[in-house]
Amino acid sequence: MSEANPRDHKPDILDPEVLGFDPTEVRRKYAAERAKRMRDDANDQFVEVAGDFAGFEEDPHVEPGFTRDAILEELEVVILGGGLSGLLSAVELQKVGATDVRIIEKAGDFGGAWYWNRYPGAQCDTQSYIYMPLLEETGYMPKEKYAYQPEIFEHLQRIGKHYNLYDRACFQTQVEQARWSEEEARWTVKTDRGDVFKTRFLVISSGPLHRPKLPSISGITKFKGHMFHTSRWDYAYTGGDNTGGLTSLADKRVGLVGTGATGIQVLPHLGASAQHAYLFQRTPASVDERNNAPTDQGWAKSLHPGWQAERDENFCSIMAGLPVEKDLVNDKWTDFFKLTYKILDTGGESDMSDERQALIREVADYQKGNEIRERVTRVVKDKETAERLKPWYGQWCKRPNFHDEYLQSYNLPNVELVDTDGKGIERITENGVMVDGVEYPIDCLIFATGFEVGTSYTRRSECELYGRDGQSLSEAWAKGMRTFHGIVNHGFPNCFHMGLTQTGLAFNYTYTARGQTEHLAYLVNQVIKRGANTIEPTAAAEARWVDLVTSPGPMRKYQESCTPGYYNVEGKNTGQSFIDNQYPEGPVPFFKMLEAWREKGDLDGLIIG
Ligand code: NDP
Repeated sequence: MSEANPRDHKPDILDPEVLGFDPTEVRRKYAAERAKRMRDDANDQFVEVAGDFAGFEEDPHVEPGFTRDAILEELEVVILGGGLSGLLSAVELQKVGATDVRIIEKAGDFGGAWYWNRYPGAQCDTQSYIYMPLLEETGYMPKEKYAYQPEIFEHLQRIGKHYNLYDRACFQTQVEQARWSEEEARWTVKTDRGDVFKTRFLVISSGPLHRPKLPSISGITKFKGHMFHTSRWDYAYTGGDNTGGLTSLADKRVGLVGTGATGIQVLPHLGASAQHAYLFQRTPASVDERNNAPTDQGWAKSLHPGWQAERDENFCSIMAGLPVEKDLVNDKWTDFFKLTYKILDTGGESDMSDERQALIREVADYQKGNEIRERVTRVVKDKETAERLKPWYGQWCKRPNFHDEYLQSYNLPNVELVDTDGKGIERITENGVMVDGVEYPIDCLIFATGFEVGTSYTRRSECELYGRDGQSLSEAWAKGMRTFHGIVNHGFPNCFHMGLTQTGLAFNYTYTARGQTEHLAYLVNQVIKRGANTIEPTAAAEARWVDLVTSPGPMRKYQESCTPGYYNVEGKNTGQSFIDNQYPEGPVPFFKMLEAWREKGDLDGLIIG
């Protein structure tokens, strides 16, 4: 037997000396930081914005006292929600001739998330060229790679105008309930304005992240200063607009709670305007570079028809780990996946075991985490603050963030990090916030504490549906959502669910909305074309679909070691969060599967009555 030549020895790519860090140490640190944040109350740590807290949900963008006569109407389609999905539903339905539509929207205009979230700095992290829908159809090109809220809101209004949807909208109106009548084969939809719509089809597009939530911190009702949630920004109090200039805060001490995508966009504006800004941190955000830039007009002119869908599919494919020839978006979202493939490739190992692949993915995740932490060291001047701002959890435990001014804010003399070391705010007093026995006096407390996820669907959509035999949706879904293809459910004929409902969850929400609304239009058209009255899934098809989407996949496993957040139902990991109740192969294969299903034309799994 010949002896191995030491010079032939190829070092293991997972060797700490080759990597420059010890993965075991990182794993240990992640587990320790997670343990600090685990808590039994999970979603119960938040209060519903109702009763004493109802004011946190009021619309600051409309004149109070709006009234109108009740509408009694019979029509083809009622769409609940005028956000991105609601608009795209109406547009797709128009294409198949279903124009007798009403869009019922709680807000004073179209826009959904982009109507409500007008806080200073609000911007979309997904590239505008794929996030903003129907660019080619409306002839609009975004001004920048990453658009700010006013431009997105305006674009959604543009879609409303372009497709004549304003005539079909009932704003400042909330659906309270919808009831199916077997005899009439119609839904009766009732609203808080006394309207009664009798409709053949009902589309629920109330949005995945829509109801604000507040931490139930002791003393919250005693605070004598001003409070609001970021999704209802009070410019009357702060002054300024989405671009900042919050001049009325010049003599105010402001506290901000939350380090998610919202909190990190807000802080730089508080830093620029407030007398003093405190960020009360429970878990540090993972913040990568943004690298925004104006749209390259030469590039824009060079685009060929169909470019937007092509770019979107390219992005969503990369994000789902599917092979592509070129990375068209090429930003910090796709960067992480490219890093993983690179290490998998440099391993140069054929027949790699599943365990080894999993280990390599884990190490790639740690490497990305190291990059993020090194960025904090580079940017934040005060060493102790920098240490406290470093996130110690996997890249997909929470929604990754991208910003070029957030970390920099901590170099300002009037911005102060109050780190609670995973515990959160201890108590709110009449005059401020208590952390670790210290009271921080403030004039205004702003909650960037996110939106309800994992609570019941009817609570989040703020209305109840009663299907066949008067069964409520709350009862039907008491043990979790049940759908077929994420869009229809047994016992609720002619009702369609949009959003992150057991579907193909894409990192670009628009991709999912586009695919779902195309499918919606196909199904509605089938009922019309076949001269039928109803469409709904069989119980068996629904059961098979539920089994498929709820069987624990790699994301559920990944989330087990994650610090709490809304992705894993605040650490409970029950599978009731929208990220793990999804088509296991990801969005691109999901919509291709639906396309193939449509091409077969036999409506397999559905009953057409
Ligand atoms: P998140 O749910 O992501 O963040 C809520 C924050 O509140 C967390 O940092 C949480 O801390 C903190 N928090 C909750 N309770 C307490 C407490 N008692 N004490 C201290 N801190 C507390 O909400 P966001 O509004 O930031 O974002 C929600 C989602 O909306 C995003 O994930 C994204 O999908 C979308 N969005 C997208 C934007 C974009 O594209 N740019 C912009 C804004 C939002 P902890 O982490 O410890 O739980």
